[in-house]
Amino acid sequence: MKAKFKEKFNQLKTTIFETFYPGFSCDGCGIELKNNSLRLCDDCLAKLIFHNGKTCRFCGTNIKEKELVCERCKSTHYNFDSAISVCDYNELSAYLIKSFKFDGNYYVGETIAKLMAKYFKVRKIKADYLTFVPLGEDRLKDRGFNQSQVLAELLSTELNIPCIDLLRKVKETPKQSLLSMKERFENLKDAFVVKEKANLKGKTIILIDDVFTTGTTLNECSLIVKKLKPEKIIAFTFAKTIKLED
Ligand SMILES: [Zn+2]
Ligand SMILES: [Zn+2]
Repeated sequence: MKAKFKEKFNQLKTTIFETFYPGFSCDGCGIELKNNSLRLCDDCLAKLIFHNGKTCRFCGTNIKEKELVCERCKSTHYNFDSAISVCDYNELSAYLIKSFKFDGNYYVGETIAKLMAKYFKVRKIKADYLTFVPLGEDRLKDRGFNQSQVLAELLSTELNIPCIDLLRKVKETPKQSLLSMKERFENLKDAFVVKEKANLKGKTIILIDDVFTTGTTLNECSLIVKKLKPEKIIAFTFAKTIKLED
């Protein structure tokens, strides 16, 4: 992350902590917390629907069935080998993402990254590198930071796995959320390129984003990462929409 953005975050973080110190507040509901390193109260934690492994082995949808392939993945091919998410995209996880991504609350990003790191460790996932979905230059300028990059860098520190800045978005595209599935795919075609020619032969790469909605962005990024011939690409997001939109 550029030094300027990091500095901005740290300043904001300090201001908030100083304002509310000595109590830490829950990132979900704002209730005061004592000695809670996670910044989420028990009630808010209980509202997050954590994935326990009974998820579609391709897209990571929480399907709670024995046969671990969801309906859609029976006929869909992805460029990543599997996708995993910490929890369902519901009211609380959506709120946390919004608070971090659009309101610029860096400390919420830390909470999200801690939950992601915990999931990673509990599931005993092995990886050689972390990387992230890039933002286009205009959006990066507007937002001031790339939420996926921040999460990847925080995770890199938590997990002691190097984070590489691998991809670049070369085409500004309309917001994916405003488009249909077919339009999403067309929208992102040729939008990403490899920024850094890394030797990924035989390596497992974790591609980080905040939310898995249709998987189109992660899929398109994976197509580019695949050119570097890694052994495996795992898409890793904090939240996963309950049903794949179409
Ligand atoms: Zn709470
Ligand atoms: Zn699936």
